[in-house]
Amino acid sequence: MLETQIAHRGILDPRLLAVMGNVPRHRFVPPDERMWAYSDGPLPIGHGQTISQPYIVALMTDLLRLDGPERVLEVGTGSGYQAAVLACLVAEVHTVEFIPELGRQAARLLQDLGHKNVHVHIGDGSLGWQAAAPYDAILVAAAAPDVPQPLLDQLAEGGRLVLPVGGRGFQELQIWQREGTTFSQKNNIAVAFVPLRGEHGWK
Ligand code: SAH
Repeated sequence: MLETQIAHRGILDPRLLAVMGNVPRHRFVPPDERMWAYSDGPLPIGHGQTISQPYIVALMTDLLRLDGPERVLEVGTGSGYQAAVLACLVAEVHTVEFIPELGRQAARLLQDLGHKNVHVHIGDGSLGWQAAAPYDAILVAAAAPDVPQPLLDQLAEGGRLVLPVGGRGFQELQIWQREGTTFSQKNNIAVAFVPLRGEHGWK
C-alpha cells in the first residue's frame, strides 16, 4: 500500500508514510471487507458511507502540511481511520460525525487503539465545531456544494482547510488558507466523496 499506492503517486513525507504504515486500517473496516482493507479504493462501512481510499487519506493529510503541534478538526468521522492518522501526527483532533451509531463505534475503536488525543462529537459538522475552535487545520471527508462559511470562520491565522467541493458524483479537492481576513483557494485533483449533509451540505 505504502509503495505502490502512496509513495509512487508522489507523497513522500517520511512522517506521514510511517503513520500510514502503522495505523491498522483493517480494524476500521467491517469484518467481511477485511481482506480488502489495504487495497487501492474506498470500502463500505455501513449506513451508506465509505472509508476513503488510502491514497486520498494520505493526500488530504499531506495537503494540510502538519508539523506536530496543531489542533485539527475533521468533519465526517465515519470509521475513524482518518482521525487515527491525524491523531498520530498532531497534538489534538476533534472529529464530528452526523450518524450517531458511526460516531459511537469510531469513538470506541479509537479508544481501544489508545488514541487519547481524539475527541469524537456527534452533530452537524457542516457548522464546524465551535466549542474547540479555532483550528490550525480542517479536513472535510464528505462532498460539500460550496465551502461552508463556518469552517472558514473556525480556521486559525494561517490555517488550512481541505475539502471536496462539487456535485454528487465527482468533486474538486479544494485547499483554502486563511491570511488575516482573506482566504486563498487552490484546486487539487478530482475526487468522489459521499455527500455532506446538514445545514451547509446537500438537502
Ligand atoms: N473519514 C472517514 C470517511 C468518512 S465518509 C473515515 O476515515 O472512515 C463521510 C462521513 O461523513 C460519513 O460517515 C457521513 O455520515 C459523514 N457526514 C456527512 N455529513 C456530515 C455532517 N454534516 N457532519 C458530520 N459528518 C457528516
